[in-house]
Amino acid sequence: MGLALIDAAEASQRGEVPVGAVVVASDGRVLARRGNARESSGDPTAHAEILALRAAASVLGEWRLSGCTLVVTLEPCTMCAGAAVLARVDRIVYGAVDEKGGAVGSLWDVVRDRRLNHRPEVVMGVREEECASLLSAFFAARREH
Ligand SMILES: [Zn+2]
Repeated sequence: MGLALIDAAEASQRGEVPVGAVVVASDGRVLARRGNARESSGDPTAHAEILALRAAASVLGEWRLSGCTLVVTLEPCTMCAGAAVLARVDRIVYGAVDEKGGAVGSLWDVVRDRRLNHRPEVVMGVREEECASLLSAFFAARREH
């Protein structure tokens, strides 16, 4: 989560909502790290998780990220939760809970739907306060402008 927090802080400096994501291989190797880039890319799908999953697949040379762990500072949305299932990651680890739009246990639980044949393990609340405080500081600063 340390690397994801750094990527989230860097995203914040670029004026992006501070979310960072890291994909770690089963041997512990970091395959990809990305920060949210929605504003800079003008791409509604440029969430940190999507960018990190794509980059990790590119490193491995295949779309299947079996054995990998997706680490992200904020609970994934429906799109990113869906992408993690499609990428067949083994595990999703996240920090802050997103009660307004989270799709890994809060508003929805896309990844542990029993109708799916691939269901990643979920570890939530890792360094939750640090992850959440980056977000609250970002939005508080935006309200002051
Ligand atoms: Zn997302």
